[in-house]
Amino acid sequence: MEAKELIGNGFIGNAAAAARLSKRAAGQGGGGHAYLLTGPSGIGKHTLSERFAAALLCEKPDGPCGTCTSCLLREAGNHPDYHRLPDEGNLTIAQVRDLSRALTLAPHSARHQVGLIPDAHRLGIPAQNALLKLLEEPPRRAILILTAQSPASLLPTTVSRCQRVPLGPVPAGELTKALAQRGVEDAEGIGARAGQRPGTAIRLADDPAADAAIRETESALLDIVREPVPQRLALAKRLADEPDALPERLDTWIGLYRDSLRGGTPGGARGGAGQGHTAERLAEAVPLAKRIDSLVRLFAARRKLRYNPNTQLLLEQLFLNLGT
Ligand SMILES: [Zn+2]
Repeated sequence: MEAKELIGNGFIGNAAAAARLSKRAAGQGGGGHAYLLTGPSGIGKHTLSERFAAALLCEKPDGPCGTCTSCLLREAGNHPDYHRLPDEGNLTIAQVRDLSRALTLAPHSARHQVGLIPDAHRLGIPAQNALLKLLEEPPRRAILILTAQSPASLLPTTVSRCQRVPLGPVPAGELTKALAQRGVEDAEGIGARAGQRPGTAIRLADDPAADAAIRETESALLDIVREPVPQRLALAKRLADEPDALPERLDTWIGLYRDSLRGGTPGGARGGAGQGHTAERLAEAVPLAKRIDSLVRLFAARRKLRYNPNTQLLLEQLFLNLGT
């Protein structure tokens, strides 16, 4: 089996990115020492970054094989050459310094020392500055992997010193096929409701309640654009009571507006029977100029969510403006 098949085995979409990282792990083409994988949540950043790390550490040049000592040590969380920062919480300068120090040592047994910083946007500016020296003068046998939703969430000085590996939504046909092969029913609808993100689609397929919640979020948008003001304000109050669900709801609505601008038809860019259908109804109910204006307002609301706003007020203002 070729290297790219091992890293990309069962990985849905973004084959070029998987192939590029496989080549690097196999010591062919490109000698970058820092890689930044970017893309929305559920797109495959974590899966691909873990597999890249595994391939770099594996004893086989075309790994990860899953059976060598190196692979077994890593899976047990005990590889001396693998330094992965935690998934949860803020990342500190001390953690970055420890990581940098570890990466400057010669590898114990693997070909490389490998560092992984998941969700690197959690690094504050001082922590990113602490990382700069490592990025500017990378040790010859060290490779650092970062993931982030967007390069804009990191300092330009950090981004410019990394090889960029952007991951994007998977085309409808490809995702539908891959999900159907996994036995997912309504693969096309789930793919569309997941915004063509494979990780999110698999999560929705495994969790019918979450899938139902997205359907409800989709139909809530049609209520918002059609209902009179008092009903819209009542809905704002109800949704503000579930603040944890708001980022995902806004992302779903942003996806629907985007689809509606692309035509929102089953043959369109997304073409999902589920979301495609809702996007079509949105396009029928709301004139084009209003949909563009609404999309801009949704992006602004999504940004404001990061700063702990009064969510009811935010939703009220948003819903008043989304109405027709
Ligand atoms: Zn191995």
